Amino acid sequence: MEDFDVIIIGGGSAGLAALKHISALGKQAILIESGKEIGSKNVSGGILYSKNKEYGQVHNVEDIYGQKFLEEEPYERRITKYILNATSKDKVCSIDLTSIHDFQSNFGYSVLLNKLNTWFAKEAQEEAQKQGGGIVTGVHVKNIKWNNENTPIELDGGKKNSSTYDNSLIVETDELEEFRSRAIIAADGVNSEIASLLRAREKFLPDQLYQGVKVVVKLPEEIIEKRFEIGPDEGAAHLFSGDISLNQVGGGFLYTNRDSISIGGVYHLSSLLENPVEPDQLVNSLINNPLVKDLIQDEVPIKNIEKNLSKEEQTKRSFTISKLIRTWNELREIYYSPKNREKSIANGKFKSIEEIKDKINTTRRRLLEEFNTKFVTNYVELEYSAKVVPDGKRCMMNKPYYKNVLFVGDAAGRGIFLGPRIEGLNVGMDDAVRAAKTIIKYLKNNLADPNIGEIYSQSIHESPYTRDMKKIDKDYLKVLLKAVKKIPLEDLGAKNNFLISCMSNDFLRNFAVSTINKVGFYKFLSFVESPKIYIDIPILLAEKLGRKINTSTKFDIPELSERISKLKYYEDNNSHIIVTKPQIEFMKKMTILCPTKCYSIEDQNVVIQHEGCIECGTCSKETSWKHPRGEKGIFFKYG
Ligand SMILES: Cc1cc2nc3c(=O)[nH]c(=O)nc-3n(C[C@H](O)[C@H](O)[C@H](O)COP(=O)(O)OP(=O)(O)OC[C@H]3O[C@@H](n4cnc5c(N)ncnc54)[C@H](O)[C@@H]3O)c2cc1C
Ligand code: SF4
Repeated sequence: MEDFDVIIIGGGSAGLAALKHISALGKQAILIESGKEIGSKNVSGGILYSKNKEYGQVHNVEDIYGQKFLEEEPYERRITKYILNATSKDKVCSIDLTSIHDFQSNFGYSVLLNKLNTWFAKEAQEEAQKQGGGIVTGVHVKNIKWNNENTPIELDGGKKNSSTYDNSLIVETDELEEFRSRAIIAADGVNSEIASLLRAREKFLPDQLYQGVKVVVKLPEEIIEKRFEIGPDEGAAHLFSGDISLNQVGGGFLYTNRDSISIGGVYHLSSLLENPVEPDQLVNSLINNPLVKDLIQDEVPIKNIEKNLSKEEQTKRSFTISKLIRTWNELREIYYSPKNREKSIANGKFKSIEEIKDKINTTRRRLLEEFNTKFVTNYVELEYSAKVVPDGKRCMMNKPYYKNVLFVGDAAGRGIFLGPRIEGLNVGMDDAVRAAKTIIKYLKNNLADPNIGEIYSQSIHESPYTRDMKKIDKDYLKVLLKAVKKIPLEDLGAKNNFLISCMSNDFLRNFAVSTINKVGFYKFLSFVESPKIYIDIPILLAEKLGRKINTSTKFDIPELSERISKLKYYEDNNSHIIVTKPQIEFMKKMTILCPTKCYSIEDQNVVIQHEGCIECGTCSKETSWKHPRGEKGIFFKYG
């Protein structure tokens, strides 16, 4: 049996931060991740923030990974524009909320988790190896048990200490021999099996979760910059509310990556259960918005093969056309990216930018003239993904531990959640450092302190992020109101106008905020996160104040089956989900709410076809739900 100081379960951004930090503090730690590769199971929107909090210190990404994070740039773009768009049909009212984005922030980068977590893993692995630890992928933890708790532990020098006991842990996996450690950090995500196994918390309720669904869309680098009016070192974030939400509480987002765009929505699961809408339709509703269409459209070649040719000739032409289209795409990727252009000229592939441009035109002409290829205005989807997100204010674990197992990130239900704006990545990383520091203290005392969980819990409660989950920040509200005040609100009706005027008054606002915080923010959620705020007011704003966006572009949005067929899976014959209550209403709704339509009804029973499962966790509450065995299941290339 292999022995470590600490075992970390789960290699998302939280688990990797824990490994990096605990190794940097000199302990031998191993991280076990069930995905075939790090990053393959993680999904985000997402903007990774570095925060500068007023109410205490947080541990930011650059504190954990150092300047290297900024130098090696495993992220996409630094977000410098943050716009809220209220939508109604072809009208959009845009409000610049960059001041909100900048509030107590050092920076916020758009990220794709496969790339980001792979970079984190490289850094964490390097640090861990110095202490004899590391990362094991493709291994699924299936059980945790404690060593004989009645055995007095052996202190340094072989002396027995009968007042403390050996509470080391044994970790069982589906694939490898057992591991032993003195503490565990459970970073196994929102559908934490470890939490269920230890009964550390109940599975999250629909009211505590949002369902996030996203597509990554390809768009060349400099086209993004031109479209979004940003520089090479800048990025834009657009948030959406109004009719794009198809009457759901929640909203949409669009983030510019280096040479792609992330578009998606996050919707309250209770709202979806009340009035079920297919998740892919929610994404489609955003893609079909005229503003979004204008922003993401591109020139797309459509392969056309004459049917009157012989089979052999058709195959030959199809092959040549595919090759030419690939070349055309690759050339554009070089042409529209300063880095790629420079590299390809430096390594002698091309003599000049003009030569690349000429090659693009020649390839295009060949496709048009020789092969009858049409070039249309459309968009190119790279990946469809989904995951539920815990809303910290509703579900963070009050005691995020069980004995010497500490929960961090989504596993502990921690996320700051304000409509489509989510902070889970930075929160999980901060939790991870707090867990690592606690364990170091614990190990220093040579297991003498059985209250490791309480020390960690206290540290978590001191985190400014915990405060953000519990209370409204009056300064944040002030900045928000200042941003909103720039638009003429008289047309929004007397009641709304009165409310905004009251809130704009410093005394009234501070009084209201401190009263709400005293009584409990939670009690006001049905007002704050209501259809009125997320749907009715934005629609009114768009209709009264919005600009009309004319677009004749018609997109060929992929069917769900096409989206699923593009995904990469490692098949597992064993279903990791078992339907235990096939006739309940919740499961019937899953036939609509599963983002990949895994559920259907046969003879009045809900049945599952697990092969298309993208492990989003929407159905977890009422099923027997586990992550697939090591290496199996979905493999997200972008995430
Ligand atoms: C659509 C969407 C938009 C979002 N937008 C943002 C945003 O803009 N900003 C932001 O900060 N956050 C955002 N979030 C939230 C953020 O992505 C999450 O909070 C964060 O990714 C969670 O990280 P984690 O490490 O806690 O968990 P995860 O990333 O879920 O990692 C858990 C890992 O544990 C592994 N695992 C699970 N069980 C086992 C087991 N038994 N054995 C071994 N391995 C196991 C899994 O394979 C997985 O890799 C968004 C989320 C979604 C879905
Ligand atoms: S079957 Fe899979 S994809 Fe469908 S809701 Fe459940 S976890 Fe999500």
